[in-house]
Amino acid sequence: MSEPTQPRNTCIYGKGEMSALIRSFDWEKTSLGPIHTWSAHLLISVNLLLDSSFPMLIWWGEDRIQFYNDAYLRILGTDNSKKQLQTLGRRGEDCWPDAWPRVSELIERVLSSGESEFVEDEMVPLYRNGRMENVYWTYAYNPIRNMGGVPEGILVVCTETTHTQERLQHNEEQLKRVLDHMAEGVGIVDRLGKIIYSNPMAHQILNTEGFKFPERSSNSPEWYNTRLDGTRMSDEEHPTTIAMSTGKPVFNYEFAIERPGLDKMYLSMNAAPITDAKGEVSGAVGMFMDITKRKQTETELRASESRYRTLFNSIDESFMLIELIFDAEGRPEDYWIREINPAFSRQTGLTKAACNQRARTLMPGLEDLWIETYGQVALTGKSIRFEDYNKTTKQWYRAFASRVSEETPFVIVVFDNITAKKELEQRKDDFISIASHELKTPITSLKASLQLLDRMKDQPNTATLPRMIDQANRSVNKVTVLIDMLLNATRMSEGQLGLQLERFNALELLKASCSHIQTANHNFVFEANPELEIFADENRVEQVLVNLVNNAVKYAPGASEIYLKAEKLGDRVMISVRDLGPGILAEQLPHLFDRHYRADFSGMQYSGLGLGLYISAEIVKRHGGEIGVESTPGLGSTFWFSLPGNIELQQGYLQGNLT
Ligand code: ADP
Repeated sequence: MSEPTQPRNTCIYGKGEMSALIRSFDWEKTSLGPIHTWSAHLLISVNLLLDSSFPMLIWWGEDRIQFYNDAYLRILGTDNSKKQLQTLGRRGEDCWPDAWPRVSELIERVLSSGESEFVEDEMVPLYRNGRMENVYWTYAYNPIRNMGGVPEGILVVCTETTHTQERLQHNEEQLKRVLDHMAEGVGIVDRLGKIIYSNPMAHQILNTEGFKFPERSSNSPEWYNTRLDGTRMSDEEHPTTIAMSTGKPVFNYEFAIERPGLDKMYLSMNAAPITDAKGEVSGAVGMFMDITKRKQTETELRASESRYRTLFNSIDESFMLIELIFDAEGRPEDYWIREINPAFSRQTGLTKAACNQRARTLMPGLEDLWIETYGQVALTGKSIRFEDYNKTTKQWYRAFASRVSEETPFVIVVFDNITAKKELEQRKDDFISIASHELKTPITSLKASLQLLDRMKDQPNTATLPRMIDQANRSVNKVTVLIDMLLNATRMSEGQLGLQLERFNALELLKASCSHIQTANHNFVFEANPELEIFADENRVEQVLVNLVNNAVKYAPGASEIYLKAEKLGDRVMISVRDLGPGILAEQLPHLFDRHYRADFSGMQYSGLGLGLYISAEIVKRHGGEIGVESTPGLGSTFWFSLPGNIELQQGYLQGNLT
């Protein structure tokens, strides 16, 4: 659309609404006078204003006569623009009665300094679109100079920033709503670490309702942060400070807060730096959660774990945690060894390296029974106690297996090597049958003698009578000796052995211990200083020696010499009995002095209850002495025992043990 007539002499060329209005305006009524009298710079300025599609205003001359363009009218809305149309050519003061003090102040500043003024996002309430609106403006007041450089007017270039401001405000409100309803505590600190914002959850977590955060520094007597190990944390270590100094976010930083009179509180914090428009760090935001309960549980768990770990590592029973492996049909086929304790390693020889290995890989000979048994425990939850002989290790085990929980195929197995116990039981069984046999022989012979005597009671003069009586006596003696031995052994094991201490000659003792033996095959060789004396219970020591001599005769039947020796060794008296018999196997040596132990001489028939050496050892120990044996198969054996020679010193010990 073009404007058909446009008098050239008006010097106003624009085609818009305001250009038309300016051309038709009666300027004579204003202090500016008709257009053709206007100065060139006023005309240039007004034309520039009218040609601009950017909102602009001009105030000219002493009266600050007002001009503006179409773009300016448009942002005022229809209602205001109509009103504004009437302000053309009027004095600024009349156009802006309310805002004039502020406007005129800016105008004066620009005119006097000659420099423009720039104002960003200033809110000016405006009646627009039928209501009062908070309108934001960004504008510049620029001087318009005459040819002499003196500012005569003001050009205002303005733009409305309400939308940007509204958007910002909207964003801020939205952010606030999010922060207000967050389940995490949020705190924002400035560059100096001063808290400038905290959300409601932060106060709820920290129990600081009404507490003025910004007034406190991170560490003070009323509030300080500690590391997890309980030591004080410096401000530099605070995650928000770290985020600011490194410019990088910090995740899951755990620390504690201590406040006098309040329980220690643990927090986990994520922190991120906040940067300004120039990309410089201007603060940090910290988001945190209360992890006090979790930390307490962790601490309790750790304490309990370490208690059980100590128990687990120190108990004598072997302990193993296993995880069952089932085949497609749900049958147990193997198990993982997950944990073992030191006792387990000691007993099986398997080290920690066995953990997380399959049992069948580790022990190829493992019997199915074990896996089936553990599988049943895992499936049914019923604990099992059982004993089994392991053919590979040749050992007896007693095991207890129990399921850890219903949800997992874990089973704990506690087991014990009971081979020694089993062997003792076996020896006891053997002992009972031997003892019965040993007692039965003299009793049968006694019975026979008594039956004969009974038949002879009417012919007392028979020559066989004294023989029968003699035989009966010997049988009774044998029974008595056996019963004595049994009683002795019982008394020994119950610690009821009293000692009658006296001084006696060693050589005489050696000789006395062989006097009862009637043997054509053996020759006794004695070696002792005739002066050597012993202070001990003579009968008991003789009992020991008789035992050793009897054994030498019994177990070395073919060897002629038996050597008995007594000598002083330091403050002790050492007595030994040496035979040249078949000797004893090395693996049997450690057991000879055990109760009921009898080395198995296959193919040879030896009588004995396996008690002699046990009783001897007890008597020697009771004297504070030592007993032992040295033997080489094929070369004979030397049984020895030592008794303390320093009588006075040992007396206390011995008396203390007298019962
Ligand atoms: P017992 O003679 O009644 O079997 P002991 O306790 O006296 O019981 O001896 C235990 C075992 O020690 C015997 O069964 C025998 O095997 C072995 N033993 C003892 N003395 C000798 C020896 N001088 N030579 C070889 N073996 C012996």
